[in-house]
Amino acid sequence: MNKTAKYELLYIKFTWALIFVCAIYIILSNAMGVLERQAESDIYINITYFALVATLNYAKLIFLRKGLFEKNEVYMASRIIELFLIAFSIIFMQVGYWLFIFLVFPVFFTSISKGSKPGLLLIGSSFIVYALLKVVNIAFFPYQGPDVYGFNIYDTVFYVVFFYLSMIIFTVFCGYMYKENIEREHDNKKLLDELEEKYDQIAIAQEEAKCQYERLKDANIKLEDTNKKLTSNIAEFYTLQQISQAIGSIFDIKELLKYVNDIIIGVMGVNNSTIILYDEKKKILKVDTTNIKNEDELLAINDNINSKVLVDVLDKGKPIIENFVDHEEYAFTKGRDVNSLICIPLNTKSRKQGLVLIEHKYYNAFDEENVRLLDIIAQQVGIAMENAELYQQMQELATTDGLTGVYNRVYFHDRLQKEYKSAKEGNYELSLAIFDIDHFKKFNDTYGHLFGDKVLKSIAELVKSSLRNSDIFARFGGEEFIILFPRTSLQDAYEKVEALRQKIAQSEVKDNLVTANVTVSFGIACFPLSSSLETELIRDADDALYDAKKNGRNCVRVAKTQQDSI
Ligand code: GH3
Ligand code: MG
Ligand code: MG
Repeated sequence: MNKTAKYELLYIKFTWALIFVCAIYIILSNAMGVLERQAESDIYINITYFALVATLNYAKLIFLRKGLFEKNEVYMASRIIELFLIAFSIIFMQVGYWLFIFLVFPVFFTSISKGSKPGLLLIGSSFIVYALLKVVNIAFFPYQGPDVYGFNIYDTVFYVVFFYLSMIIFTVFCGYMYKENIEREHDNKKLLDELEEKYDQIAIAQEEAKCQYERLKDANIKLEDTNKKLTSNIAEFYTLQQISQAIGSIFDIKELLKYVNDIIIGVMGVNNSTIILYDEKKKILKVDTTNIKNEDELLAINDNINSKVLVDVLDKGKPIIENFVDHEEYAFTKGRDVNSLICIPLNTKSRKQGLVLIEHKYYNAFDEENVRLLDIIAQQVGIAMENAELYQQMQELATTDGLTGVYNRVYFHDRLQKEYKSAKEGNYELSLAIFDIDHFKKFNDTYGHLFGDKVLKSIAELVKSSLRNSDIFARFGGEEFIILFPRTSLQDAYEKVEALRQKIAQSEVKDNLVTANVTVSFGIACFPLSSSLETELIRDADDALYDAKKNGRNCVRVAKTQQDSI
């Protein structure tokens, strides 16, 4: 509700109160006879008048409620009707000039809320209405005049002029106040608008700041995430670097797996890490490397290592992650403080190598990231194992003879050097024997080269199985073999070699069609008894062999210089 409406409502209430007072007055004076009785015609005029006033006020109230009172035409029309009623009561109801006071309210409200112009318009209209009514009054009701209070026409003109002049001054003053008010309101509105604009700007800035903050928060989260990933990548990189370093430098599989197992424990912070290898021949899994020391735990693992879950990981090549271990399903965890585990296959493209099993005593200890890292490690280890096996094969190829499987000449020379050095330093005897198959050319010619190969293999096997682990047996070339006997005297070597010669002579080599046997001739030398240098050892033994051949074959001869002492 605006100011005009508020004033108007106040004015209506005041008028209601006045009507109420007048009604009481009429009742007291006429119905109850308390006050002086009025003439009957006066009573009707009064009642009609107040009814009109009440109707007008009621209409104003309705217009106010509907928001129509503000409309200029409605406002001015209701004001003019009001002025008419006031002028009417002054002139015809003989209530006295004091009622002019009621003109003050509408004029005051009009000029204060709409400016001096409408106020003055109202005064003008009121004056015209009053004058017209007065003329009517004088013309048609001369018996009423000049005035109930005994004023003559001049007095009336004086009061009326005085009143209207005062009203004009009052209206101008009110209009001035209205102008001031309007300007102030205008200024206030401007200020308010500016304030609103500022507030909007602040709100926008605030929203912008909020957006920036959200963006910053997002960026921070992303940064933290990246940082976490970076840290784990660095750890991963470091781990893989360690492993690849090990792969490059450790060729012994056992040692390599022990090293990798220690890395897994360190990097993944697990309680247990176990590397399980698959035995292809027996088709079973076997614990190879583990940090578990407790005997009972080891027993539990070893006894249940071929359980279905683990065999499945190997066969399907798919890892398992279990954060709430059921000790029945995972039998190898029975009676052990293990509640989370990951098992990764250790397979390469070519074959199944085994498994890596990591365990933790806490529940929910692992996530997919752990599986991923362990999988990468397992792949590296698989490759490393293949490399180590290849290395071993290559070593064997480089040191062994392809046909017989015994050491080759290169390896023998290497060992001879070492053994000679230690014999010299340790001052102990070192014997060397060379043997050669007798008439092998003829044998080959008779039975064929393939059967000859078979003979070579079978003699090599027979000799190898008859020697000590410390003896070094190699194929020296063609059908010639060489044996090194560390810490063996010439006498002992002779006895061994003689026994070997007899064994070979008695052995038979069988084929589907052929059964044959061969003899061999031996030559022996010994450090320091017959030879003082390693090269002399071979040469002297070879000379002795030559002697043996010369002396009918299938016999043993020792280096010439020492022959008499035997
Ligand atoms: P001797 O009793 O004097 O040693 O007579 P020999 O025939 O064994 O001597 P020779 O050195 O003349 O012949 C060696 C033969 O050994 C020649 C070759 O055919 C045969 N030989 C050499 N290496 C192999 C091999 O790897 N396989 C087979 N089957 N024969 C071989
Ligand atoms: Mg020969
Ligand atoms: Mg020969």
